[in-house]
Amino acid sequence: PSAMREVFLETPKVYFSDIGGQEHVKAKLREAVEWPLLHPEAFKRLGVNPPRGVLLYGPPGCSKTLIAKALATEGGLNFIAVKGPEVFNKYVGESERAIREVFRKARAAAPSIVFLDEIDALAPARGSDESSGPTGDRVLMSLLTEMDGIEELNGVVVLAATNRPDVIDPALMRPGRLDRILYVSPPDFEARKHIFRVNFAKMAVNGDVDVDELAALTDGCSGAECASICQDAALTAMNEDMNTPNVRREHFVEAAKSVRRRITPEVILEY
Ligand code: ATP
Repeated sequence: PSAMREVFLETPKVYFSDIGGQEHVKAKLREAVEWPLLHPEAFKRLGVNPPRGVLLYGPPGCSKTLIAKALATEGGLNFIAVKGPEVFNKYVGESERAIREVFRKARAAAPSIVFLDEIDALAPARGSDESSGPTGDRVLMSLLTEMDGIEELNGVVVLAATNRPDVIDPALMRPGRLDRILYVSPPDFEARKHIFRVNFAKMAVNGDVDVDELAALTDGCSGAECASICQDAALTAMNEDMNTPNVRREHFVEAAKSVRRRITPEVILEY
């Protein structure tokens, strides 16, 4: 029985050009993650301390995972992904073992990115409602120990993601840990157009479909919701006629009008 099941080493095939918007985040991550890993001597020479870790926060479905994967793809970095809730295991010691294993793998696979998704589940503030008492504290401590153990410029960078930056233990954000914090916003009009175009590249779309119209109809939607509109539209078209050559405007418009928006004002809080 092993906690290592949760540890995936992968080489993602996601590119920054697949991601609509987020230009600021992409640029900052290049500088903070790609440059130090690919040009450590320049950082040494000029006396710049690269960050050990970056926290991405923002509402669900807005490309935090996609961005982390694209960074790995474009930098030629190995990608080790874990989800907080999967590592947070009730068996005594299992979670700590899993965390050690993640970092061991990351060092062995350097240059690499450790992606800690839903880190709020792994590192809730001590004493908070979300904290799980002594178990939670031990898991947090082992995460801090591993992060502190990453030597400067040894080729491992931690990227963490959360929808709830407010519940994360502040100790994680100290210098030398997750010391860069980037907000990943919901897609704006232009970004939504880009997201629709990326999705259209994977499906047969009728000439009457207008990305401007769809982007306008999806104000307030996440990227994940734009992607699911495309899926829903295609399923509606199939329901009408399994032999349909493509998906038409009416299918997209209907799907866009009936999509449920998960992003509420409370979750767009920018820190
Ligand atoms: P969560 O907080 O729920 O884990 P997330 O912010 O990590 O979400 P992703 O998993 O990166 O979001 O995005 C989910 C899906 O939504 C992606 O696989 C992609 O299909 C689509 N998507 C979201 N944002 C974008 C975007 N900016 N450009 C293209 N596709 C997007």
